[in-house]
This record gives sequence, structure tokens and C-alpha cells, in this order.
Amino acid sequence: MCGELRAANAGEDVVVMGWVNRRRDHGNLIFLDVRDRSGLVQVVLDKEISAEAHAKAETARPEFVVAATGKVRRRGAGLENPNMATGEIEVVASELLLLNDAKTPPFSPAEDAIANEEVRLKYRYLDLRRVEMQKNFRVRHEVARAIRNYLSDEGFLEIETPFMTRSTPEGARDYLVPSRVHAGSFYALPQSPQIFKQILMVSGFDKYFQIARCFRDEDLRADRQPEFTQIDLEMTFPQQETIFKTVEGFLTAAFRTAGIELTTPFVHMTYDEAIRRYGIDKPDMRLPAMVELTETLTRGLREALKIEPVLPVLGFVIPSAGALSGTQKRGLVDEIRRFFGDCGLDFLDVARLKTNASFAPLADAIEAVVAAEPTLAPRSGREGGAQEVADLLVVITPKLGTPATWNYDPQWIYKKVGGLRLELARKFADKHGLHTQTGTAADYKFCWVTDFPMYEWDEEAKVWQAAHHPFTSPHEDDIKAGRLTSDKGAVRALAYDIVLNGTELGSGSIRIHRKDVQAEIFRSLGMDEAEQKARFGFFLDALEYGTPPHGGIALGLDRIVMILAGASSLREVIAFPKTAKAIDLMVDAPTPVSEQQMKELSLRIVARS
Ligand code: ASP
Repeated sequence: MCGELRAANAGEDVVVMGWVNRRRDHGNLIFLDVRDRSGLVQVVLDKEISAEAHAKAETARPEFVVAATGKVRRRGAGLENPNMATGEIEVVASELLLLNDAKTPPFSPAEDAIANEEVRLKYRYLDLRRVEMQKNFRVRHEVARAIRNYLSDEGFLEIETPFMTRSTPEGARDYLVPSRVHAGSFYALPQSPQIFKQILMVSGFDKYFQIARCFRDEDLRADRQPEFTQIDLEMTFPQQETIFKTVEGFLTAAFRTAGIELTTPFVHMTYDEAIRRYGIDKPDMRLPAMVELTETLTRGLREALKIEPVLPVLGFVIPSAGALSGTQKRGLVDEIRRFFGDCGLDFLDVARLKTNASFAPLADAIEAVVAAEPTLAPRSGREGGAQEVADLLVVITPKLGTPATWNYDPQWIYKKVGGLRLELARKFADKHGLHTQTGTAADYKFCWVTDFPMYEWDEEAKVWQAAHHPFTSPHEDDIKAGRLTSDKGAVRALAYDIVLNGTELGSGSIRIHRKDVQAEIFRSLGMDEAEQKARFGFFLDALEYGTPPHGGIALGLDRIVMILAGASSLREVIAFPKTAKAIDLMVDAPTPVSEQQMKELSLRIVARS
């Protein structure tokens, strides 16, 4: 292969084949950089050695497909190229074949960065020739292989489940496939293999996995694709811990392919703790957590400072971002006030409190609580440790009259302040440097979030929805206490998420394995018996034939690969992705279909008024 030749190969006869990356014409000498999947090698065509090969090289252009026969030779002293893996040698060609010519491409696959992504997607075959893309798909392959091997060694069986099926309730819209044979009926593409993997547990397969394609018709946010790949697994008789261990095992194997040695077990935290400490159910633990100052601001102090008497007061630190000029600080306070709008939350200026004798003790107390925060990592280990830069301390208080709940949510203050924490972490990323990749395991802060709420109140539809999916088992204690009917908001689920650096990598749960509980959950979600039967009759039936306790999880493979490849978007690690408008620009899909096809499917397009 082109990229594999080294000084040790000097003197060997070789044939290299690939694409012309670049051509330089020096009269009697023509240099072709020939590229294949492994990299580049310089091929020299010397008129004196082969006039015929030299003549062919004169007509060669970028992206022509060539084969060169010749000898590997060390480059002359001073002519080595240290930027090329093969830079110490070149291939002196005795023969050159032009296997195919190429039009001038709309962009050169030899370039590192191509600004126009639409052009890249339209000419994806050229884009995928680029070194970076070739690397991304090698990473993808290695990651998938490591995961497959790990799970296989742990006794998991890879079993395929259908693409043409019926609706699965993962909370997104389905893609539908019309049936020709059954006019007017539709298959749904699976949003996940959820029901099938549970049925496989009923069938006694014990441990299942699949690197499965899933389809969800959602309005695409930046990092979503309508079809994506999950590492999907399910097992019988598991404790949550069994599943955590399995996932930690395959993630360790996957990260090892990129030379990163993860430390397990990962941190655990309940949903409530995540909200209280990070204001979000997917904590970014690269930065210190929020600090509870509710008790520090006593009733008397609150009265003096016009702060709501009981609601939470929260603080957080953005490391090394505290050196602000007066103007910068005023700008920051304005920005924080804009962020909160008129919700009632406000910035408390601790530095200012210090200058006032009656509030200075409060300022000290606040600083003491903040300094005791264990996630406020010690300075050592951070770049430039010698020169300490002050941290930015942000304390947020509720003004008098701030509501205790917002959209029925009593935790809204934690979430709002958590949002600000993330916003400022982004803003000051250059200062704290905690988002900067160091290429070590320290870059990856994993955690498990457990005990999610079972239900979510949907204010628009005025109904309770399943927060995960309706096959998730509620906590035994909450079932026993009758909360499924009496206090849905308080029901905890045996559901868990795996989170990395503030993004959810996957979620799963221990499932319901009893028909009565499953029917009760469906009922509590507003599904009457007729609807249950119509949508999930087969599943409820299956639950009655000896269903073992079971549970599982699914993690997004695309995102894991994106992280390990250091890619900036999911589209960089999906060979043929769709745009944000769900269009495949290369094949130009979706498209209208012929009258004939529509007729066969008994479909007619009706213009919407
Ligand atoms: N089917 C779920 C999902 O796609 C994952 C799981 O519960 O295993 O999110």
C-alpha cells in the first residue's frame, strides 16, 4: 500500500495503485503523489528512465486512477519530507498505467477542510476519499469490532430484529412503509428494537445484543440523524449493576481502541442529586458542581437583601475565569440578567458584599462553603498551575416574589442556574481549559444517572407521559405505596442513563415483566383496554407465558465514534448521512415516486389546503 512504504523498503520492486493526489511537473521529472487508503507516496517519473511512463504522467491529473511499477528509493539528503509518513522514500517508476481519468472534482480530496458541507454531501464519494474521513471509518470499524468482541465473549448473542414492523413507543414519530399486499396498511420502521429484544428474553435467549439501526422522524436538531445506530442489549435476571458492568466493559474495550484506558466503575448519582448538583439530568462533570447556599443565607440576611425567604440560593465556580475588568464584570452581570429574563432570579455580587461591614461575614461564609466543594478540583494538574488566576464565583438568588414552581416544576431554579453554569462554562472555555482535549482518560467524565422519574407532565397535552418508555419498571416501593395512581409525579423508575461530559450516551431500564403491572402502566398513561389490546396485545399476551425479569440499555454508536474520532458532528462518522432537513443530497432522497408505484400501493397524494 502507498502509505506503508518506509526507508526499510528501499531497493524493493513495488506496484502501487491509487489516486493522483497532486502532480508536480519539473520538465524531465514529474512527481505524482499517489494516494490509497493507507496514505500517500511520491512516485517519480524520470524521462531518462521511461519516456513512455513520463509521457503518460504528463496527461495525469488529480484524481486520475493510476498504477505505477517501480523501485523504492531513499530520497536524496535534504529532500526528505518529515510531514509525510513515507517522506524518506519515493517510488521511481518504470511503468505507469492510467487506469481511469477523472473530471476536475468540485473540491479536492487532498484538502484538509472543505467549508461547504452541502457540496461535500452531494459528492460524498469524493469527500470520503479524504484522509480524515478514511480515518473516521476505520475508527468506527474498530470501535464496533471491539464492542462486538467484548459482548460476544461475555456470552451475548447478536440477533437481528425486523426493520418492517409496527410502531414502537420511543416517543418520536414513526417512518411508515405502505404495504402493497394489504392496501391501506403500513409497517413502521423501528424507533428501536425495544419490544423484540424483550420478546427475545421471554424466549430464553438470556443475553442479546445488536448493533441496530433505528429510525425516528424527529425535527432534526444539530446532532440528530433520522436513522442512527445503537448498541442495543438486553439480559434476563439482571440487577442494574449487572448492566452497568456490561456497559463499562464494552466502553472500556471501545476506548482502548483509541489508546484510552478508562477507569471503572463510573460515578453513580440519582436523578435528584444530578438536578440538585448540576441542574440537569446529564451532568457535565468536567466542571465543579453547583453549591447549595440556601442555608447560608439565613432568614434575616434574606430580608435585608430582599431575597425570597425559603427558595434555593445556588452558587457555582468557573475556574480561572475571575480576572475581569470593571466593564467586563458589568457586561457579565447584564448577560446573566438577560439569561434569566423576568423569572425572578438575580446575580448576587459577593465581591461587593465584602466591602460592606454588615455583609462581609456573609461573603466569607459563602466563600467557605464554595471552597469546601469537593468537585472544585485542586489547581495542580491544570495548565499553568504556577500562575494562579482567580476563579469566577457566581451566586444566584431568588428575588422577592419569585415563584416556587414553574410549569409545575419545583426544581426549576436548579435547572435554570444549571443552564447558566453550562452557558458560562462555554463562554469561558478558553480560560478554564477544562473542555480542551488532552488525549488521556482525564478528558472523559462518565457517570450513571439513576432513579429517573417514571412520569413527565406534558403541559400541552395535559397528560402524564412515560419519561423513558412505558416498558420501564417503576420502583417496587412506589408500586406498593400506590403512587402509580395517587402521586404519579413521585414515582421513580428503574431507569438509568449513561452520561459522558454532559451528553447522554444511552439509556435503559429494568423492565416490567408482569402483565398486571404493564397493563396498569399503560392505563396510567391514559391507554384504555381496547387501545392496549390494539397496540400491544401481542406483547401483553407474551408477558403471560412465563416472562423472566429482564432489563437492558441502548447506547448511540455514532456519538461514541464521533467522540473517539475527535469529529465535530455525527455526519462525519456516518458514511451517507442526511442533512438537517433529512435529505440525502447524494442520492437526492426523498423524492416523489411514479404514478404506477403509487397505484400499486393504493396511495394518492392529496394536496393539503
Ligand atoms: N429502547 C431504548 C431507547 O432506544 C433503550 C432501552 O431502554 O434499552 O432509548
